[in-house]
Amino acid sequence: MKNFLCVLLSIICTYAFAQEKITAIKAGKLFDSEKGIFFDNQVILIKDNLITEVGGNVRIPANAQVIDLSKKTVLPGLIDCHTHITFQPENYMEDLFRKSPIDVAITAHIYAKRTLQAGFTTCRDVGASEYIDIALRNAINSGKVEGPRLYVAGFFIGATGSHGDLTGFSPYVHFQQESGVADGVDGVRKMVRKNIKYGADLIKFGATAGVLTEEESVGAPQYSQEEMNAIVEEAKLWGKKVAAHAHGAEGINMAVKAGVSSIEHGSFLNDEGIRLMKEKGTYLVADIYNDDYILSEYSKMGVPQKIIDKEKLVGRVQRENFQKAVKAGVKVAYGTDSGVYPHGDNAKQFFYMVKYGLTPIQAIQAATINAADLIGIKDKAGSIAVGKWADIIAIDGDPQQDVTVIEKKLTFVMKDGKVYRNQ
Ligand SMILES: [Zn+2]
Repeated sequence: MKNFLCVLLSIICTYAFAQEKITAIKAGKLFDSEKGIFFDNQVILIKDNLITEVGGNVRIPANAQVIDLSKKTVLPGLIDCHTHITFQPENYMEDLFRKSPIDVAITAHIYAKRTLQAGFTTCRDVGASEYIDIALRNAINSGKVEGPRLYVAGFFIGATGSHGDLTGFSPYVHFQQESGVADGVDGVRKMVRKNIKYGADLIKFGATAGVLTEEESVGAPQYSQEEMNAIVEEAKLWGKKVAAHAHGAEGINMAVKAGVSSIEHGSFLNDEGIRLMKEKGTYLVADIYNDDYILSEYSKMGVPQKIIDKEKLVGRVQRENFQKAVKAGVKVAYGTDSGVYPHGDNAKQFFYMVKYGLTPIQAIQAATINAADLIGIKDKAGSIAVGKWADIIAIDGDPQQDVTVIEKKLTFVMKDGKVYRNQ
């Protein structure tokens, strides 16, 4: 018996040893996102998918696979807190009337791969149709599909006639599909429960009207204070955070009072909103790149002029108010509304975040440690530190001198210890 145990133990040990994969990354410059400083000539040791050592005097084991990034700038994997990774518009009428959710489901993996290849190892996906986001997340987690680690919201919860509804059509046009439309305290509670039932990691709702839909006024609140309170309270019971789509000042302030974790867009944010967000520690997730893309491309896609006019109303003001919020010290997390513009261009927003008030270091922190904090995964992501997932990217050049090197000169992507790009 004793002998048998010894043999068994040695088999287990040999097996475990053979299975253990050790990787050592030599980093020329390494960004410490928690301290906000760069260190020269560092070594990162990775066992399987986790970081086990980081520093200037780390001994590289003989059995380690060495990845030489000694001429590169190494950053934690980037995190986009506002994506719609399952979808990308091509033509307004065709997207609405000639495509089904099956078309969306069948192409979603393409966008997931592009996003990961652009250095975004994690995304918070804030609204998709037919639970396609949940299926995509699961397929990525099980290794069947290549893409970022996803935290998903399921259906966008919105009131009847709101940004979350289909608007602008005859009352006799009906779409036979699931939706996130819910009204009243009981209705919104039920919709929160339904999203969670089918696998949502967080809740997203529309506090105000939107831009890329045909309902009136981008600014007006679309839920009562009671409904917003109920959404946040119900989500909290289930241990979920809430993101509020909010452009108008009144709706922003109502959502912050209700206790949401983040304000998405924040276009007409006013002084009261800034004060409330600071007091409550609410994150601002402002998509300040995509205005350029919408104004240059959406007319060609047949998007109604009414929608484009709304974007003109919002774009510039949103950037100015972002700058005000940054100056006032509101917490900022990186979020781009990808899907509104082509997936894979997520890093183009760094330029605008720096142009409108963040330092390059703060912009990278918004896309790493702050984003991880907002999602609730700071213990596992957002920095290159012991015990965290090995989500690591590398670029040529110095993002402190020119932050656009992140979008233009990315050379290496590792997610969860696995290399997806290495040039
Ligand atoms: Zn969005």
